[in-house]
Amino acid sequence: MIATNPKTMLLNTLTTDITLDILKSEHKIDAETQRLCFDIPPGFIIENDILYIVSKSNMKRPFILTALRHKLLTYFHDPPHCGHMGVRKTTFSMQRRVYWKDMQQEIFDYIKTCVTCQTIQISRTKP
Ligand SMILES: [Zn+2]
Repeated sequence: MIATNPKTMLLNTLTTDITLDILKSEHKIDAETQRLCFDIPPGFIIENDILYIVSKSNMKRPFILTALRHKLLTYFHDPPHCGHMGVRKTTFSMQRRVYWKDMQQEIFDYIKTCVTCQTIQISRTKP
């Protein structure tokens, strides 16, 4: 992770296998991204062929296209260092790094159907 300016936290590598280069090439072929790039909505910028959303505090987060979202959900929720965090913590962690419109709802749905989380919950509620 490279943070040259504290206000613009830019990730060089989003996850172990989704790099900004992959994002760049995927953005070029994704219809939704192309549509957004053609008519850039307020708050978005394109930099090095990657679409970002810029927050009021000037934080830049890459737009994640549909095809890569599941991979990111897995990355931010499943590994041991994430420890199957709940919706709030997973959302907090992801919202600082990446962006897509219905992210919060998708995190909620993903965790609700996570087998490990359901198993933990069942064992916790047992007497
Ligand atoms: Zn889980």
